[in-house]
Amino acid sequence: AGAVVIIGAGHAGYQLAASLRQHGFSERIVLLNDEGHLPYQRPPLSKAYLKGTGGPDSLMFRPEKFYFDQKIDLISDRAVSIDRAARKVVLASGASLDYGHLVLATGARNRLLDIPNANLHSVRYLRTLDESQSLRDYITEGQRVVVIGAGFIGLEFAATARAKGLEVDVVELGPRVMARAVTAEISEFFQARHSAAGIRIHLGVQVTSIESDGHKVTGVSLSDGRHMKADLIVVGVGVLPNVELAADAGLPVASGIIVDEHLLTADPNISAIGDCALFASPRFGGSLRLESVQNATDHARCVAARLTGDAKPYDGLPWFWSDQGPDKLQIAGLTTGYDRVVVRGDQAQAAFSAFCYRGGQLVGIESVNRAGDHMFGRRLLAAYGSISPEQAADASFDLKGALT
Ligand code: FAD
Repeated sequence: AGAVVIIGAGHAGYQLAASLRQHGFSERIVLLNDEGHLPYQRPPLSKAYLKGTGGPDSLMFRPEKFYFDQKIDLISDRAVSIDRAARKVVLASGASLDYGHLVLATGARNRLLDIPNANLHSVRYLRTLDESQSLRDYITEGQRVVVIGAGFIGLEFAATARAKGLEVDVVELGPRVMARAVTAEISEFFQARHSAAGIRIHLGVQVTSIESDGHKVTGVSLSDGRHMKADLIVVGVGVLPNVELAADAGLPVASGIIVDEHLLTADPNISAIGDCALFASPRFGGSLRLESVQNATDHARCVAARLTGDAKPYDGLPWFWSDQGPDKLQIAGLTTGYDRVVVRGDQAQAAFSAFCYRGGQLVGIESVNRAGDHMFGRRLLAAYGSISPEQAADASFDLKGALT
């Protein structure tokens, strides 16, 4: 079989290396890491880490000793090309690695703002530990920050910045916050909560230019003609999957590296997992590319099982969370393509769930401060179960009873 070489030591790459050893894989494992830190968790970068005072160690999956003990060769380098015929990966250092199986776990990178002055020092992004650390060190009470994009990362940052005493404006082109990801019920709740915390949200507009005094950002102009003062701009306008290595090696890519239901590319010696992978999903009957810890880690476990002799099509149930100020949003299933939404719980009490249906079938649940509903949804949906909209809306209906 030979060595497994994993390109990228994020959530997917780290989990694959760890799971391979758990499954008894005994050959060489190489984990290529291009970030200059031990493999770490990203979600806290816009949440607890940004808010807190803890050091980078608090983010690491495992201490250095783990990789040594598990005989995982954690190599600080970057893959620059793949020679599929020779089964070799060429590294930035000039070295090369032979593989029996290669796994692309290259993740995604920030989509950059393409307007004048977007390269100024006070225009920031939030994907890596270095970016989070440098933002954390930079922000101080009283600064004016304009957040571009009201997606998960923009809103998590906005809530943290507001809690730290910054003046926060969020500019979003869509008609509501998190419009692509959640139901209107959830958008409206978070819009109201952020507004009540003093965050100003501007919908249906975009930032058309960034003004500077030659060194620093001084403000922004909006598409509706308004100007806003700003000391800092934080951009959260989505990511681009890192597909170039695969494409350059002649592997099919689209809005991600194309893999089948086993997470294999067109080359039987190369898999792709996590944020970079566009995977065929028998569960959902199409191709999906998801950006979540669940997706990255469950993909990794599926490939680890395959490489140790237990191949099964990938069938993970998507789930996700986002912490914004005091509120916890949790999503189970895929809440897209629904035709009916039923609310359970109490929006006014900041504890409710939106049950999403398509053709009478439950497809996903978005919960705000209702961990019980979320866990119920994960278990029910993973088992291809459903409850009726009437049951979902009935506060006296026993969810747990529906699981047996
Ligand atoms: P990544 O974590 O992006 O790792 C890919 C790694 O590969 C990177 O280190 C990259 O530098 C490296 N790499 C790329 N190309 C090469 C190369 N050629 N050679 C070597 N290395 C390479 N998800 C949730 O479910 N819940 C959350 O609350 C949540 N919050 C988030 C908050 C933030 C601020 C961010 C940025 C993401 C958040 N996510 C959250 C998403 C989640 O972190 C990602 O889905 C997850 O990190 C994907 O893992 P991955 O391993 O596929 O990619």
